[in-house]
Amino acid sequence: MTCPVCSSALKSIVVQSVMLDACAKGCGGVWFDKNELDRFDSQAEAAGSDLLKQLHPQMVPANTSAPRTCPKCVKYKMQKRFACAKRNVGVDSCPGCGGFWLDTGELARIQENWQTDAERFQAFDSMFAQEVVPLMAAEQARVEGSAQVFGKIDSVLKFIRPSYYIRGK
Ligand SMILES: [Zn+2]
Ligand SMILES: [Zn+2]
Repeated sequence: MTCPVCSSALKSIVVQSVMLDACAKGCGGVWFDKNELDRFDSQAEAAGSDLLKQLHPQMVPANTSAPRTCPKCVKYKMQKRFACAKRNVGVDSCPGCGGFWLDTGELARIQENWQTDAERFQAFDSMFAQEVVPLMAAEQARVEGSAQVFGKIDSVLKFIRPSYYIRGK
C-alpha cells in the first residue's frame, strides 16, 4: 500500500500482536484496518508507546485537511471521524472499508487520552475502596440477606461511575 499523505510505500509493523501498515520512511502516519484501532484503543498506554517507538517520521504532513484517498480501497476518499472514546481526536476514515489513517500527531494525542483514562481508572479504584467498600460492608451488616442492599449500592455507583465504564455507543 502507498501512503495517502506522502506517497511513500507503507511498511508492515507488528505492535502488541496487531499488524499495521506504517509510513515509517515518510510522514510517520499509520493505517489501521477496520476494528484494529478499536483493539488498540482498549489497550493500555503501552501499546501507544510501542507504536510510537517504531515510527521515525522523516517529515511532517504538509496539509492535514486536504481529502486523502484510502490506501486500501484506493477509489474512496477518506472522511474525518472521531477515533477514540473521548471524541476529541478527528482522524481520516474510509467509508468503504472502515479503516483509519492516523498522522503522527494524532497518535500522540490519542495516547494522551489513554494516559488520562489510566489516571481516571486509578482514581475510581481508590474511591471505590475508600467509600463504596465500607458502605457495602455496613449495609450488608445492617440488612443481611435483604435485596435492599443491592438497590442502594447500585444507586450509589450510578453517580460515581466514570464514563470509562459505560464506554461504547
Ligand atoms: Zn507518508
Ligand atoms: Zn478503504
